[in-house]
Amino acid sequence: MLKRQTSGSVVCPSCGRLVGVQEDVCPHCGRASPGLWGFSRVLQVLGQDVGFVKLIIGSCAVLYLLTLVTNPSGIGTGGAMSMLSPSSGSLFLFGASGAVPVFGYNRWWTILSASWLHGSLLHILFNMLWVRQLAPATARLYGPGRMMLIYIVSGAAGFLLSSTVGAYGNFLLPPFLRGANLTIGASASIFGLLGALVYFGRRGGSTALGQQAWTWAVVLFVFGFIMPGIDNFAHLGGFLGGYGMSRVLNPFKPEKVDHLLAALIGLVLTLAAILASLALGLPLVAR
Ligand SMILES: [Zn+2]
Repeated sequence: MLKRQTSGSVVCPSCGRLVGVQEDVCPHCGRASPGLWGFSRVLQVLGQDVGFVKLIIGSCAVLYLLTLVTNPSGIGTGGAMSMLSPSSGSLFLFGASGAVPVFGYNRWWTILSASWLHGSLLHILFNMLWVRQLAPATARLYGPGRMMLIYIVSGAAGFLLSSTVGAYGNFLLPPFLRGANLTIGASASIFGLLGALVYFGRRGGSTALGQQAWTWAVVLFVFGFIMPGIDNFAHLGGFLGGYGMSRVLNPFKPEKVDHLLAALIGLVLTLAAILASLALGLPLVAR
């Protein structure tokens, strides 16, 4: 299936018009290498698949198991909310974000990795149910590439906001509204998907869907204030990141191969962030 195209024409990833696969520059819009070295069609086939949703859920499940087995004696067993919770050390090692990793240890890349880690069995179940609910709908409206981009960027926006507030703003704030010292979970990205659906609705795409997403966002946000230990700034940053990305990506224009390419780069950077967390974290945790 991964066959490189060497002759004929392809759709330019920038302007959507037909260009020869061997052209150096698109004659219509001037984009360099519009044939993507023959891989443009492979990427388009990939794009029709919503395999990204399975990728998110599968990766989160594998990473959750890894954070558990890395330190079995540190697994928390108290109460329903913290049943089967990986130790803080494991979570730090695999790339938890927050004021301590980002500003204390200069692990700035953890704003990418933290979305893929979870703090208990209920935490991952709850978040993956939301991913299953929202990601396919977002992928249908925005295309899978833009859905994945929104997911990644809003997660990073949420953890950047929460870590920054945690490091510099907490002394001003009441205890229920503080930035996090150590934070993980897909909920910043989930709020990003909600932001994308709200944006789609407000721009006239589907009022009913937009209102539904807004209701969910408000309920989940209020829920975060009532429950202890919820990272409300990650939720806020994730929502704003998803809404902002949706403005930039404009769902009313068709998805291009470039969006898919950018999503793949985002996933590779995320994987690199997890690997960097492990490689640079091992000497710290082993001490
Ligand atoms: Zn073009």
